[in-house]
Amino acid sequence: MCYKGARAVRGALVVKPRCQAVRGTRDVLPDEAARWQYVEGAARSVFERYGFREIRTPLIEPTELFTRSVGEATDIVRKEMYSFSAGSESVTLRPEATASVARAFVEHSLHRTIAAGFPERVYYIGPMFRYERPQKGRQRQFHQIGAEILGAKEPLADAETIEMLWSFLDAIGIEDRELVVNSVGDARCRPGFREALVRWLEPRLDRLCEDCRRRARENPLRVFDCKVEADRELLLGAPTILDLLCGGCREHFEEVCRTLDAYGIPYRADSRIVRGLDYYERTVFEVLSRDLGAQSAILGGGRYDGLVEDLGGPAVPGFGFAIGLERLVSLMPGDRGLPAGTDVFVVSLGEPAWRASIALARRLRAAGVRVAMPMSSRPMGAQLKRADRVRARFALFVGESEIASGRYGLKDLATGEQSSVQEKDLVARLGGRHGE
Ligand SMILES: [Zn+2]
Ligand SMILES: [Zn+2]
Repeated sequence: MCYKGARAVRGALVVKPRCQAVRGTRDVLPDEAARWQYVEGAARSVFERYGFREIRTPLIEPTELFTRSVGEATDIVRKEMYSFSAGSESVTLRPEATASVARAFVEHSLHRTIAAGFPERVYYIGPMFRYERPQKGRQRQFHQIGAEILGAKEPLADAETIEMLWSFLDAIGIEDRELVVNSVGDARCRPGFREALVRWLEPRLDRLCEDCRRRARENPLRVFDCKVEADRELLLGAPTILDLLCGGCREHFEEVCRTLDAYGIPYRADSRIVRGLDYYERTVFEVLSRDLGAQSAILGGGRYDGLVEDLGGPAVPGFGFAIGLERLVSLMPGDRGLPAGTDVFVVSLGEPAWRASIALARRLRAAGVRVAMPMSSRPMGAQLKRADRVRARFALFVGESEIASGRYGLKDLATGEQSSVQEKDLVARLGGRHGE
């Protein structure tokens, strides 16, 4: 419980604690939570059709997991991690989940299950934590839905996962979307591209922003992540990786594009999409959507064939993506995921009827009906108002004669239609057995 400001308690001035969520975190209230559940339910339903199963990993991981996988030079590891020491160990609130999934994969030797040639497909839904500047309008605790395929190096894994995402976006009604794909090459061809890019950047460094100058030294590909308009314009003239891919990467990328064509999924190849994490190689992709006029990514992912091995596991290729849940919910049409109303409000007429309706409510709830009723005997007008507030579909009238006869008055609150129903027929009329 909290109070505004200070108040006197038995003569002493007591300052009550501030009653506010931590900056960069927020509550998802019940009306909005219904929309989250809708998105999460659609994700589970669509992903499971493609053979994905849920994995739940801890929110805290050894700090080293992220410095090794996400990369020392990335913004995430440099300045956005919530790290603290617990005993002799440095732990971090996970800033993303791919590294955790790869860690779990190695720790539990899940590669054994892919020996038969079938990849392991997992998905996750949950909070991530990044200490970001609040003026960017981002949450420091944010939520992602993501999936990973481990053990498939074939281009079909990339294309099929993208196609699955397309079906998912269809399912939740996100129509404004653009798919952009790119290849960032691999250990064979990326060094050559990196060199060509650095050669191109060097004479132009003084025209680029400070972040880009640092990126040019530490991780040159990431200059393409720059949001400064002048830099973006200048970088349009930079060498593109798609021209410098090795044979294997080129073939992989072309096959991904051919399969997307076969699915009939529209996309644009854009060599400036590099994604911010070090572990990506070959395919990377994003889905962009407009928000207040500006286009930005609602989801993204790519291939990370070296990650599991980097973490001390076997050489197992991987492909995955993550979706920002906050953004997705805000872009979803308003008629999706509305909170469920109550099936029936039990209106009791008088104290004895109210008492009898307690047992009736129990029987109906046990049969799967969503029931609301007053906490004490109340005037009928007040009860009907409450029925309206909880958006009840029906009002069920319980008086002493109804209890004696076992027949109740039922009113459809949308149509006003009234009928008399026996208790044994009530459940069918009220649409019981939700969620079964
Ligand atoms: Zn820049
Ligand atoms: Zn290559």
